[in-house]
Amino acid sequence: MTLASATRADRFGIRRGGDLPGGSVWLVGAGPGDPELLTVRAARALAQADVVLHDTLPGPDVLRLARRGARLIDVGKRKGHRSWPQEAINARLIAEARAGWRVVRLKGGDPFVFGRGGEEALALAAASVPCRIVPGVTAGTAAPAAAGIPVTHRGLASSVTFVTGHAETGELPQAVDWEALARVGGTIVAFMALSRLDEIALRMLAAGADPVMPVAVISRATLPGQRVMRATLGTCTLDARRAGLPTPALVVIGAVAGLPDLAAAGLEPLTTGEPGAARSLHLAEGAA
Ligand code: SAH
Repeated sequence: MTLASATRADRFGIRRGGDLPGGSVWLVGAGPGDPELLTVRAARALAQADVVLHDTLPGPDVLRLARRGARLIDVGKRKGHRSWPQEAINARLIAEARAGWRVVRLKGGDPFVFGRGGEEALALAAASVPCRIVPGVTAGTAAPAAAGIPVTHRGLASSVTFVTGHAETGELPQAVDWEALARVGGTIVAFMALSRLDEIALRMLAAGADPVMPVAVISRATLPGQRVMRATLGTCTLDARRAGLPTPALVVIGAVAGLPDLAAAGLEPLTTGEPGAARSLHLAEGAA
């Protein structure tokens, strides 16, 4: 690797992750949004990559960590634009690697949590393209943490279930048994679920879930404009509609969502630091 590709991590002597070699693809998790929540290895990979195929969720602050001159290709969904079909993303990853480039495939959160990272890894393996997984901080735990909500809590929640509220068709996925989830207890963390919150709540209530079961919706966690809505299973549909929360948003259902609000108590559950998103928002508000 050239000197130019050296990253800040090198200065700390962190070398265990190795370098991103030409002709290979790293499937990298970018964390929930705040660039400070990237792993050191993710930052190194970004600083070395020749080409970065990224989703829409890793925002400009994360992409700024890419090497100058790297090609940034947005393959994610945009309002009014179609996202790339999965086959086209797979084909492009394979083509870029075969051309000898150092390729980063950058995804929000963790690449193997509702990120289709598994599909891409299998496609790369089938094409004999060397591939490495760089896990990321998933929104599934980071978004609740940013709202001061621990996903497990002694005496309240001994299990966590990650579910998706969004099938390929845009409907609630058939494969998720919401009635069973109502019985299983613990904490339910629902990704891509805001637009289907009404159906989710109805199905869980119909299955016997308690209408006063706490629900939290965390919108744009760790990003500027983060918002947290607290409600109950009985009220969350209406409350969410009124609140008009922007996406991405994560839904947390379970007793932990009813714990005292650490953030409101003045604690900073997830300190973002400079140039942290939440802090700069705070300063901006103060300056206004
Ligand atoms: N691989 C990602 C999830 C991709 S699915 C991960 O591990 O986090 C996209 C969904 O993730 C969004 O619809 C939302 O439910 C959740 N999400 C991702 N980033 C988020 C954020 N900053 N705040 C709230 N929810 C987020």
